[in-house]
Amino acid sequence: MKLFDTHTHLQDLRLEKKVDEMMARAQRAGVAACLVCGTRQEDWPGVLMVSESFAEALPAYGVHPWFVKDLSVDWLTALAVFLEKSRAVAVGEVGLDFKVEKESRELQEEVFVAQLRLAKDLRLPLSIHCRKAWGRMVELLKQEGGLPYGGAIHSFSGSVEMVREFERLGAFISFSGSLTRPANLKVKKAAKAVSNERLLIETDSPDILPENVSGPLNEPAYVVEVVRSLADVRGDTLESIAEITWNNASTLFYRRDKTL
Ligand SMILES: [Zn+2]
Repeated sequence: MKLFDTHTHLQDLRLEKKVDEMMARAQRAGVAACLVCGTRQEDWPGVLMVSESFAEALPAYGVHPWFVKDLSVDWLTALAVFLEKSRAVAVGEVGLDFKVEKESRELQEEVFVAQLRLAKDLRLPLSIHCRKAWGRMVELLKQEGGLPYGGAIHSFSGSVEMVREFERLGAFISFSGSLTRPANLKVKKAAKAVSNERLLIETDSPDILPENVSGPLNEPAYVVEVVRSLADVRGDTLESIAEITWNNASTLFYRRDKTL
């Protein structure tokens, strides 16, 4: 089984000194690629370092909605430089979070749209965070002409209607360890509704630890738990889910200078 973990933060300082062992375990578990997403200007050098150390680690850079308030004046130029010099495969993590960061709504939208336009200019897909902002996310994507180079809605927590809406906009839908929680019926329903051509898997390491694995931190090897839950919910085999999601992810995120 070859697995593609489409959303991680391996540059996270909580993982410092643990990444070598973690990547060895990931390899043994069949994880042959993982997208490493930056969240703010300060962690972009860390993303670059991880992506240079491990062939499986594909870099993405972006500003997460939680960090829009501490941007430098030249952040957008700096982002473009990072995306180009490291041959990034995506812009991310970007998005809207009206649950945790209500008061910065306008600024979040401004920063998100700027990154959406940059991604389009550089012909890159996006890794998108969306919490309690579904209607607005759809509006902004429509207003900006959709996702011509694709994108993934990471750790999807929306409704079945939103699955359909995002698929029409050209987005992929990615499921995390939250799907493994028995009580999370809304996510299970959504996971059943996604079409094979749009399905992705992720861990969001080091967060969102799946059920039945020992923590405290999540890691790419545990993406197999998400595969297990998806196979269960969709009435499919592990092998088939692995293959479908590998093919989707490698069509969406690929490194121009490396072959996976
Ligand atoms: Zn994330």
